[in-house]
Amino acid sequence: MFKIPPFHQLQEQIRSAGDADVRRSLRTAHLSTYDLASLLSPAADNHLEAMAKRSVDITAMRFGKTTQIYAPLYVSSFCKNRCSYCGFSADNKIERRILSLEEAETEAMLLHQRGFNHILLVSGEAPAKLGVDYLEQLALRLRDRFAAISIEVQPLSTEEYARLFAAGITSVAIYQETYDRETYDQVHISGQKCDFDFRLDTPARAAAGSMREIGIGTLLGLSDWRAEGLALGLHLAWLRKNFWRTALTVSFPRLRPAAGEFQPLFNVTERDLTQLIFALRIFDPDLGIILSTREEERYRNGMIGLGPTRYSAGSCTAPGGYSNPDTNGEQFSIGDLRTIDEVCAAIKQKGFDPVRKDWDAGFQLL
Ligand code: SF4
Repeated sequence: MFKIPPFHQLQEQIRSAGDADVRRSLRTAHLSTYDLASLLSPAADNHLEAMAKRSVDITAMRFGKTTQIYAPLYVSSFCKNRCSYCGFSADNKIERRILSLEEAETEAMLLHQRGFNHILLVSGEAPAKLGVDYLEQLALRLRDRFAAISIEVQPLSTEEYARLFAAGITSVAIYQETYDRETYDQVHISGQKCDFDFRLDTPARAAAGSMREIGIGTLLGLSDWRAEGLALGLHLAWLRKNFWRTALTVSFPRLRPAAGEFQPLFNVTERDLTQLIFALRIFDPDLGIILSTREEERYRNGMIGLGPTRYSAGSCTAPGGYSNPDTNGEQFSIGDLRTIDEVCAAIKQKGFDPVRKDWDAGFQLL
């Protein structure tokens, strides 16, 4: 099982890195977690240009001139957990909804008509309302029409992940939110999600259940972003060592306004986010890096080709929101409101190919 060192130790390791450490790390071919700590340190801020250059070169070498495109499909806003930063938190008085299988299929086909071939099924964590049976049934309905179906739902067992993989779901996103236990306990007020270690072990259970891709991440704004970045690096390295066949992605959404009036506990600027992206790209060249519509158009356009490899587009974070744009009950508000065609046009303008199909079920037979 993956064990995370105490958060303050990660912070100390980062704080102790100086200018010479950053220069040495930038010359190193295969970075250790000590090098990652250097690139996340305040001392690395003076080397952002050199980090950008290396990040661009690695991204081009490993991913070519491509950016993958996907859309989230929210299927339920019911949640048993109380997380202080989330619009779906059980104590928020919002209009809640779970889509029937037919409604979810209709929403999915709308996304398909708009040109999406990769969808991410998202729900709050309320297993009695939306469990493995629902996800399995929905995947069986959609599997022939989408190249890739991912899920971002409650943590499941290895057996449940294996069942969903057999039904056509190929990847799982499960974010720790914060690797700082103290903050984790503060912001997760009640429900299953209060169990830090159970959540920490979920990516390994999903990989053991044969999922071809696992996405991990932290919610930026809950704790010290530099130490969160180092924790992510440690988690990625452990997953690579233990599940070398599994592709890995990372996402570090910055907190957006949501119901409940939660204010970020830490300010994370665009420059900070950029340093984090460059550091992780250089540390783990094969890593898929996701930049979602939480970020604004200007920033997302500017980052094309610099490190991120996957963008969401045309997103709505309320169940039923694609069929009915007036739907209330969003999980959080969106920073980039462009359609898929507009996002693809911006990617092409930068000389990159927007990739709408990034997987084929035929590969699964190999
Ligand atoms: S973050 Fe997830 S688990 Fe927490 S309230 Fe929101 S939907 Fe529920």
